[in-house]
Amino acid sequence: MGGSLEILHIMPGLLCNFQCTHCVNDSGPNRSEKMDSAQVENVFREVRERGPKRLVFTGGEPTLHIDIINRLIEAHPDQNSLEVFMTTNGWYSKNAQTLKLTLDKIRKLTHLQLSYDIYHGTKVTTEDIFRLRDEVRGRGVEFNISVCITSPQELIQANRLQKELSELVIFQRVDAVGRAKTNQLQFKYPDFEPEVLNRKCPNLGQMSFIVNKGFSVCCSNLAFNPSPPQEVFHESIDSHMQSEFYRNLETKTFGQMLKEKGISPSNLGPDFSSPCRICELAHQGNQI
Ligand code: SF4
Ligand code: SF4
Repeated sequence: MGGSLEILHIMPGLLCNFQCTHCVNDSGPNRSEKMDSAQVENVFREVRERGPKRLVFTGGEPTLHIDIINRLIEAHPDQNSLEVFMTTNGWYSKNAQTLKLTLDKIRKLTHLQLSYDIYHGTKVTTEDIFRLRDEVRGRGVEFNISVCITSPQELIQANRLQKELSELVIFQRVDAVGRAKTNQLQFKYPDFEPEVLNRKCPNLGQMSFIVNKGFSVCCSNLAFNPSPPQEVFHESIDSHMQSEFYRNLETKTFGQMLKEKGISPSNLGPDFSSPCRICELAHQGNQI
């Protein structure tokens, strides 16, 4: 029966009230997929047995799935030490009452990350951000902002934003996955960075559960772009960790994977500096 796990990331549904152009999982107002009761009970069991140190909820917009989230928080065997992280678009920060009501419904929350995307579809204002931050901090919950960027120029603009807000901002490079891929959005690396050949999957050490898919270490390109030849998702964490897919990621660098596939790294373009992009190439060959 399952061993310990530090971080379990859960994506309970794809419904979102925004429709950002860079959304990696293609969430939006027309996506009705959400975890059914069998999936909820499956994840409940894993949380109860493994007692991960941290649960991380993302979406879709997670505050549209609070019933599922509360059930999974409830599963944890140590409610006091459990950390609950959530990444949100902050739609409910427009007025104080909706903000309080929304946060009141969440059984436990220790960290809130606002996904504030000035370039690809955010609808919250700086005034909303301050309202959200003050309410969250008043409840003893940690707060930070994450900004997705597609170019070094955007990084400069985002740095200005960081100064304006005087808040911790995490910058995330957009990968060519989901709606970002459809809209041809991805971070533009100036050149190919060969250090990526010595790297492994950045998600090793945590596990994701994606609605209607299952458990996987992957919650990026291999999860949301057309399927690679190997099975990426499994019904339990144990079956995933015993899979050839997981063992491959755990034991090999991207350079070793390419070598096995007979793909030379000498002519790779700048896009392949992204770990997830080169991982996709290593799994799907030249079909991407
Ligand atoms: S990026 Fe976030 S806020 Fe935007 S559509 Fe996707 S889930 Fe919703
Ligand atoms: S695409 Fe590959 S490197 Fe990226 S998260 Fe998935 S398995 Fe890891």
